[in-house]
Amino acid sequence: MKKSITPSQIKQNNQKLIYHYIYKNKQVSQQDIAYHLRLSRPTVTTNLTVLENDGLICKCGRIDTEFAGRKAAAYSIVPDFRISFGVEILKNEVKIIAVNLYGEKIGRVVYEILYENTEIYQKQICRKILEFKVSLGVNDEQVLGIGFAMQGLISPDRQTVLYGRILSCSGLSIASFTKYLPYPCSFIHDADSAAISELWSSPGLQNAFYLSISKHLGSAVISRGEILTGKHGHNSTIEHIPMVPNGKLCYCGKHGCMETLCSLSALLGEKETPESFFERLRQNDSATIKRWDIYLTHLAKAINMLHLIYDTDFILGGYIAPYLLSEDLSILHEKIRQITPFSEEPDFLTISKMPRHNISIGAALPYIQIFLNERSGE
Ligand SMILES: [Zn+2]
Repeated sequence: MKKSITPSQIKQNNQKLIYHYIYKNKQVSQQDIAYHLRLSRPTVTTNLTVLENDGLICKCGRIDTEFAGRKAAAYSIVPDFRISFGVEILKNEVKIIAVNLYGEKIGRVVYEILYENTEIYQKQICRKILEFKVSLGVNDEQVLGIGFAMQGLISPDRQTVLYGRILSCSGLSIASFTKYLPYPCSFIHDADSAAISELWSSPGLQNAFYLSISKHLGSAVISRGEILTGKHGHNSTIEHIPMVPNGKLCYCGKHGCMETLCSLSALLGEKETPESFFERLRQNDSATIKRWDIYLTHLAKAINMLHLIYDTDFILGGYIAPYLLSEDLSILHEKIRQITPFSEEPDFLTISKMPRHNISIGAALPYIQIFLNERSGE
C-alpha cells in the first residue's frame, strides 16, 4: 500500500523548502518565496513566523520586489545560528577556525604549540578551543562540532588516526580530545579537508584529482561530487608512490617517494618560506628559476602518471596555491605534453579556488553540511 503524506510532513517539508530558499538567495521577500516555491501566502507567513521564532531566520531591512509597489521586508537566515570549529594540528602549531552556516570564517587563532602525543597537550589544545569559543561570544548550543584535521590517515568512522608518521600519532583516538570538550568531535585527513573546502567553493565540481601541495604532499580523489575514501582508508596516498629508486628518505621510511620530490619541503630549503622563494622567482633570480624548473619537472612526471590513471581535472591546492600563476601552469603543461603519449589540452590543470585556511575550514564544514541537509532537506 502506498503511504500517504501526513499534514505534519507537508508542513515540515514546506519549512525546509523555505529555509533552503532563503539560505540560497540570502535576502528574500515573502512574495519571492511564495512565487518561486509556489506556496500560498498564508503558508509562507506561518512558516516564516515559526522559523523566526526558532531563531533560524531574521528580518533584515527591506528589499525591492517585483510583486509589490513598495519595498517588502527582507528575510535572511541567521548565519551563526549554528557554527562549527576546524582545528589543524601541525608539528609546530595549531590553527583553530570557526565558521558559520555559510562556511565563512567568523574567527581564527593560531598557537605555536609543539605537538606531543600526551594528555597534557590534548588538554591544552581543548582549553585553547574553549577559550576561543568564549572570545567569540558563542554559546554551547550553537556549536555543531569540531573537526580535527590531521596529517595522517583516518579510520572510516573518523574516530582514530590509523597512520600518523609525521606526528607519530598512529592509534590516537578522538576520545583523547572529546573527554575535555562537550561537543561532537572527529578526525579528518588534512588532504580530504582541503578537498572538502574546494567542493564547498565550487558546488558544481563533480570529478577532480585534488593535489594538496603544502609542507607535505597529499591528495584526494573527487568523484561525483564526493571524496573517495577507499577500502582501508589509504585511498589516493600518492605521496608514497615510489618515483626514484634509492632516492631521498621519506618520512614513511621508504626512499624516493613522490613526497620527496613534489612537496613544498622538497622545493624549499630548511628555513626558506614560500613567500621568499616566490618573490625571488618573480624577480627572475636565475638560481631560483632553475630550482623551480627542476621541481616542475618532477611535478609534471607525477601528474602525468596520475592523469594516465584518472583522466580528469587536476586542482593544484595547498599552501602553494596562492603563489601559483597561470604561466606556471603553462610551463607545467608543456612538461607534461612532452612526456605523455596523448595530445593533452591544457584545460585539465587548474589552481585551487580556496587557498586560504582551506584545511581548517574543510575540517569544520562536514558539521555545517549535516545541519544544512537536515534543515533544508537537501
Ligand atoms: Zn613515503
